[in-house]
Order: sequence, then C-alpha cells, then structure tokens
Amino acid sequence: MGSINDTPLALDFRSDTVTQPPEGMWEMMRAAELGDDGLDGDQTARRLEEETANLLGKDAAIYLPTATMANLLTVLATAPRGAQVITQINSHLYSAERAGSTLAGVLYTAIGGRQGELCLDSLADILLSVSGPSIALVCTENTHNDSGGIVLSLDYSRRLYELCAARGVPVHLDGARIFNASVALGCSAARIAQYADSVTVCLSKGLSAPGGALLVGSSPLVRQARLLRKTVGGTQRQTGILAAAGLYAIRHMSARLAEDHRRACMLAQGLRGLFPSAQCDLPDSNIVLLDLAGSKLASRNVVDALAQVGIQARARRESRTRFVTHRHITDASVAAVLARCIDWAREF
Ligand SMILES: *Cc1c(COP(=O)(O)O)cnc(C)c1O
Repeated sequence: MGSINDTPLALDFRSDTVTQPPEGMWEMMRAAELGDDGLDGDQTARRLEEETANLLGKDAAIYLPTATMANLLTVLATAPRGAQVITQINSHLYSAERAGSTLAGVLYTAIGGRQGELCLDSLADILLSVSGPSIALVCTENTHNDSGGIVLSLDYSRRLYELCAARGVPVHLDGARIFNASVALGCSAARIAQYADSVTVCLSKGLSAPGGALLVGSSPLVRQARLLRKTVGGTQRQTGILAAAGLYAIRHMSARLAEDHRRACMLAQGLRGLFPSAQCDLPDSNIVLLDLAGSKLASRNVVDALAQVGIQARARRESRTRFVTHRHITDASVAAVLARCIDWAREF
C-alpha cells in the first residue's frame, strides 16, 4: 500500500532513519504489554531498558524519545553549571545539538582530530590545564556520523577512556549507531561500551524502529536522568507500543547491519570507478561520502542530478554527497545508482 516495505526498488539513500518497521516489529507492537510510564512504569519499556543495559554491560538504562534527548540528559545529569563538556568538533553533539549547552548552562569545548577521533594530545592538554572552567564530561561518537560512519577502534577508545579516568572525568559515548560499530568490529556492543561510563543508543536508524532511544549507564546516572526526563517533557504514557518496536530492534535487527555495510562498500567501489578523480573512501559501516572537491560541481548540484534520475541522497558541506545504506536498500538499488550515474559521470 505504497509503504516503503513494498517498494520493489528503494532508492532513498538520504539516511537510515527512513527505515520502516518490519512485519515482526509491528506484531510485537500490537502484542505489547502496556502500563503507564509516567506512573508506576510501562512493563515493555522496563523490559527494553533491562535488556539494553544487559546488552551493553551496564547497570541501568532509560527509554527516551530521541538520541538527542539521551545526550542532553547526560549533560544535564553530569555537568554542573559553568563546567566544560569536551566534544569532538565534527560530532553530532557539537554540530547538531550544541544549542543544548544553553539549556544546561555549560560550555561545549570542541577538540579536533582525524577520522572522528578527539586528538588525544589535545585532550590530555585540556585535562591537565589548571586554568578555565572545570571539565565535567568528555563525549565521543562511534560510529562517527559526519566522517562517513567511521568506526573508532577499541584500542583508541581504551586510550581515551584511561586518559579521562586518570583525571576522574567520565566519558559519554554517543553510540547512536553503536550496533553498526559492533558489527564492523566483530565484537559485542558491551566491549565497546566498557570504555564509556554512559552510552546513547538510537533505535530509529538502521535498527528500523519508528522512534526511541536509550541512555545506558550507572544506576545513579539513570535515576537522575529519570527525574530530568520529566523536566524536559520526555516522559510518556503507554510507551510500550514504541518500546516493543525497540525490543524487536535490539533483539533482531543488529546482526543484519553487516549487509548494509557490504552494500555501502559496493556502492563506494562503484562510485570510485565512475568518478576516478573524486575522493570516495571505502566505508567502515553504512555511510558513503562522495567528495567532488576540485570539480565545478557543488554537492547541491550532484543531489539535483541524482534526483533527476530518481535517486535521493544528501548534500554534506560544499562538495560532499552522502549516501546511507539501510534495510530497504538492496543489491539492485546499488546497481541502479551506478547504472543511472554513468551518463553524467562521463561528463564530469
Ligand atoms: C542521529 C544521531 C543523533 C540524534 O538522534 P535522534 O534520535 O534523531 O535525536 C545523535 N547522535 C548521532 C551520532 C546521530 O547520528
């Protein structure tokens, strides 16, 4: 009935957020046991919180409407007014969510670094400096959205964590796509999460739930976040309907992310063939960046040209076009992009 699930050839590469619930997810939503999450709790939301905390090897979790709220509540619960929160300069927390710092009354200090990393030397300098506001929290992101879904290594994550732990500063991992990282690294999500005190998990991206996110961490942090959730208007009632989708997502939807990664690689390889002078790295996960810097084409023009042949992608900065693979993107979708680009790629 016109749903994306029935579309024979999906060509929407804008984001993995466009994924719609698979059949089994709908069934779990309909069968969900419900309560009132604003009163004594919704049973299904509680189960989702418990299972996700276990999956990540943490004490507790809280179900939230969005990953943005999970990040914000972490800052509100951790950083006193006037303190600094250290972020990576291209992180989602900094580039898309930093207005949250005005709500929290804290300073977001951004550190640069290659490939989605915070430069550890700069971080060490900041952690050691005696001037300036105190540092309450250090935030990382894995996979790293803006750099093309780059996966930070376990070794890097451990070094960052140990550096912060030595100064008594907690680490928050924006793991909106932590299951993409876990699949790419071939390790459990808990192994990644061990190098963070708290973790944000998004259910509505590649995992295909229609909404929802979790903040996972220590019991005191989650207790504090539960109070703050009320303050920011994030407490809902029969949340089990959506939380059931989340349960299905964490139980059944993470293993298949490997397919998205394989197709992203196929797409990048094909694009490299079509645009030999462009930069298009083979992706670690499900995000492909085609960078036509040096050509006359702005990414806006590329997105328009793609739209002419029925393909949806997104402009990122002046010269980068972003393609994201997800559950509805098949081998045929990738082949169609490459076939439909041949003509204008030749002119390029
Ligand atoms: C999408 C995303 C978010 C925000 O998720 P919402 O659920 O849309 O609020 C946060 N961090 C990263 C890394 C993301 O990719």
